[in-house]
Amino acid sequence: MIKGIGVSGGIAIGSVKILKEFDSGTLPKIRLAEPAVELTRIKNAVVTAVNELEEIRLKVLAERGAEDAAIFEAHQLMLKDPSFIKKSEKLINEQHASAEFAFFLVSEAQVKKFENMEDAYFKERAADIKDITKRVMNILMGKTQTINSQGKSIIVASEVTPSQMAAFDTKFILAVITEFGGETAHSAMIARSREIPAVYGIGKNIQKLQENDTIIVDGKKGIVLINPPEATITEYKKMQEHEDQEKKELLKIVGVKAKTKNGKNIDLMANMANDIDLAAAIKFGAEGIGLLRTEFLLMDRTEAPTEEEQFLFYKNVVTSFPNHSTTIRTFDMGGDKPVPYLNMPKEENPFLGVRAIRLCLKECNVLFQSQLRAILRASAFGKCKIMIPMITTLEEIMAVKENLERAKAELKKSGTPFDNKIQLGIMIETPAAAIMADVLAYTVDFFSIGTNDLIQYVMAADRQNASLNELSHFYNPSVFRMISLVSNAAKYASIEVSVCGSMARDKVSILALLSCGIEKLSMGPSHLLPIKKFIAKIDTTNCEKVHSELLLTKTKEEYLSCLNRWEQGQ
Ligand code: PEP
Ligand code: MG
Repeated sequence: MIKGIGVSGGIAIGSVKILKEFDSGTLPKIRLAEPAVELTRIKNAVVTAVNELEEIRLKVLAERGAEDAAIFEAHQLMLKDPSFIKKSEKLINEQHASAEFAFFLVSEAQVKKFENMEDAYFKERAADIKDITKRVMNILMGKTQTINSQGKSIIVASEVTPSQMAAFDTKFILAVITEFGGETAHSAMIARSREIPAVYGIGKNIQKLQENDTIIVDGKKGIVLINPPEATITEYKKMQEHEDQEKKELLKIVGVKAKTKNGKNIDLMANMANDIDLAAAIKFGAEGIGLLRTEFLLMDRTEAPTEEEQFLFYKNVVTSFPNHSTTIRTFDMGGDKPVPYLNMPKEENPFLGVRAIRLCLKECNVLFQSQLRAILRASAFGKCKIMIPMITTLEEIMAVKENLERAKAELKKSGTPFDNKIQLGIMIETPAAAIMADVLAYTVDFFSIGTNDLIQYVMAADRQNASLNELSHFYNPSVFRMISLVSNAAKYASIEVSVCGSMARDKVSILALLSCGIEKLSMGPSHLLPIKKFIAKIDTTNCEKVHSELLLTKTKEEYLSCLNRWEQGQ
């Protein structure tokens, strides 16, 4: 058995198909032709690559819709970045590099830049550059990428590019295994939305997989079984049938309102960052978007998006949910999400540094203003709300309000329509905001508790540091007390409170959150249906008792056993 990271759930049984890559070791290094000829080869290869991508984009658009096709548009945009050509030209002229070698070096430098960033999301963006590089290199070297095979295959590759994952024909490709990569890889997100089981990051074990081996992939557990005995195959086939049946069953509750056993309505909304998430949110029946992570709009590019580009993106989301609201969080960049072209200062402790609203109110105020205008413009097309991340003081809220008024005044002046009563809310993710929640509640329209950061700051434990898992978990009584404070403050001020951090999709934590009177939860789209099903089994009749007992617990063990006791009793 090989263990990796299960990045996309599901079971697949099939034979290994090894995806061959172009070999950078065989690149011709020195140019044999005039610089102008080599440069033209690169330009032509880029044009061919853009055309190829357009062909795939149109095919995917026709077969699976705009969301799935978006990745190919993004890659076309990346390829059109003139800096690739400019830098290659320099290498061809000054170092006599061949077209292949020049383009490869320029892309490698870009890849390294992303790989050296601390944030997992940015590290994975390097895969997008590799993706477009591979396409151009294959054109320059006269190779074509092997994508679909004839039989029922499981792809094994060093890495799978997002465009490959998006183009795989699922009639033939059953699952994907890679040597490198993790959950935040762009291709992993596509695998999840296309429901292709995938295990990433198996490392050196990739050598144990040979062409045509029969294997079983369990994308949930992240395991691969090589040439298993018949009995194991039969067992997994049964599990597969069971999973398929469960998925079908879950889809039946898409349009059903989430309710507890005793009939309390719970609103289940989706967290999203891009069009692929949006498609999944719609598919799984999200009651609007509870968290739109807009900072992802700033990534994978060399300059900030224009107001118009932002507006079109927000408008598309808002109009996708005509009966629900879309909560647009303003840029939460910095911390683990650096944006190179914003020239953010290098900081010793970026999580405690100039990030999110701190940046927006100062260094990035022009960008922030453009975002507020874009959101306001989108608000003319449906219900949307503005949410501010990383709030720590009342003064910040006041400054945001001034900014918002300025944006409104500009739109009024130009006669642009917007919702003048648009709601303004804040994320509660710092202990300062939680402890002052009773004050802050009177200055905003809603709270959304970001448990990912709240836990990190309450416990003083870096959320990305796996060796601190014993501290940075959902079951700290201190975290529960914070959440209880915040929900009480919201209740007294009669404002809405929701949870949009990962705790909202943790089955063990749901009863604790409901016991605080929290009835709005926002989570990754794929969790919506399992959580809806789970909620139907919870009885909240004794919630007040559960709440007061939980407040008295002193340790993780006491906290968990209290929850367990109440859940068993139901
Ligand atoms: C959170 O901190 O809980 C949250 C939802 O925001 P993010 O994970 O984007 O920091
Ligand atoms: Mg956060």
